Amino acid sequence: MPKITRFCNVTVFDGSGRPGFTADVEIDGDRIVSVGPSTGVEAGEFDGTGLALAPGFIDVHTHDDIAVMVDPDHGCKTLQGVTSVVVGNCGMSAAPVSDDPLGFSRYPRLADYLREVESARPAVNVGALVGHGTVRAAVMGLKTDREPNYREREAMIQHVVAALEDGALGMSSGLAYEPGRFAAHDELVDLAEVVAAASGVYTTHMRDEGRDLIASIEESIDVSEATGVALQISHLKASGRDAWGKTAAALAAIDTARERGVDVMADQYPYTRGSTLLEQIVGAGALDGPSAFAHVQPKDLLIAAAPGNPHWEGHTIEAIAADEGVTGREMADRIVEAEGRSCFVIIDSMSEDDVREVIQHPAVMTGSDGVPGGSRPHPRLHHTYPRVLGHYSRDEGLLELADAVHRMTGMCADRFGFEDRGAIRKGAFADLVLFDPNTIIDTGTYTDPTTVPEGIRGVWVNGERVVANGEVTGTRSGRIIRRP
Ligand SMILES: [Zn+2]
Repeated sequence: MPKITRFCNVTVFDGSGRPGFTADVEIDGDRIVSVGPSTGVEAGEFDGTGLALAPGFIDVHTHDDIAVMVDPDHGCKTLQGVTSVVVGNCGMSAAPVSDDPLGFSRYPRLADYLREVESARPAVNVGALVGHGTVRAAVMGLKTDREPNYREREAMIQHVVAALEDGALGMSSGLAYEPGRFAAHDELVDLAEVVAAASGVYTTHMRDEGRDLIASIEESIDVSEATGVALQISHLKASGRDAWGKTAAALAAIDTARERGVDVMADQYPYTRGSTLLEQIVGAGALDGPSAFAHVQPKDLLIAAAPGNPHWEGHTIEAIAADEGVTGREMADRIVEAEGRSCFVIIDSMSEDDVREVIQHPAVMTGSDGVPGGSRPHPRLHHTYPRVLGHYSRDEGLLELADAVHRMTGMCADRFGFEDRGAIRKGAFADLVLFDPNTIIDTGTYTDPTTVPEGIRGVWVNGERVVANGEVTGTRSGRIIRRP
């Protein structure tokens, strides 16, 4: 049932990066029908005086594949202004069926997954990548450390082709994880070629974000240069003390590639701590000495999710070890044994200077990399967008507000092929967030991460209101976004 809503006298940040301007914005059904000079506040309409209206934020880097069905209201995202999520990141997707590092690849084809998401009716729009790791595991198994043979190569290509036919936005890789780390240049090129032919995007969680960061950037750029694929470097960072300061060289490598015409961009979450599988950190030998994660101590690892032992969540491995009367090293092994791939930890791994340098680079957009699950998820899951807008833009002055909004809306829509989204203009979908630019801020901490951010006044997805007064409304108007 179409219904007209008018936002009066609001400061519009239209997603393009142009400065905010005062206007009235009218929506009818699922679309914006007019953006025009303000005629004053009319009774019964939204008085936007002093408030900002932006396109709904597009979270380009999520692991919400299953969460959008388990928790379709998806307050972790909508309460921070997110109206669309891209799933299937870091090489791991819900299809095809295989054993993969997050264990959620249960669908024969991406179309099967998307159909199930559609019937769960989530509050957010959902677009999906197909995961290289998932595809490789489906064809060659999770542990096979060699190049694919001809038949395997063809089978992998067929899976990627099928996913693209089903509407995948592109392909992701997770080259730090099994089985992605077994993939060499040629394998990635063969698959990226298919993605490029469909005008998809290739996102990559690179092989090494620490000491070998620059080599990993070059490896990623080589794949794009060989195929012409649009390259998106996921959660760009310099991880581990040994790597601090390497972001300057990483961004310079990106600039140099862009200057010679390589289509490379990146995304980032606005925190100095990361979050990943404990298994990954232990497996890399990080507790035993210098590693891809540098050298970490049990006191540096905070348990975010341990579904089998939720009493561990929110505590460091050092503290849990003290309780159990064992060494921290021993406790880490016990936790991995008990929880396997379900255990996520938070790890202090980045320098503030590096985070600040990356956030300002013109080819960098915002993506949360939030990992739903457990009682103490990294606060990026609930707070990424208010933190960029309130902390880094308004309080620290690193980005103009219009620029910050652009990096979470128009820039993302362009990159991932979202038609008529990420923009406030006549004819675009009415995915909108109304917020107070003076008060918007993240409120989540590492020990209390699931709070509601401040300053978000309302969120609309396809013209329907999904957030009001800091709460989800229960309306779930998200749609599937397929690559056209
Ligand atoms: Zn990742």
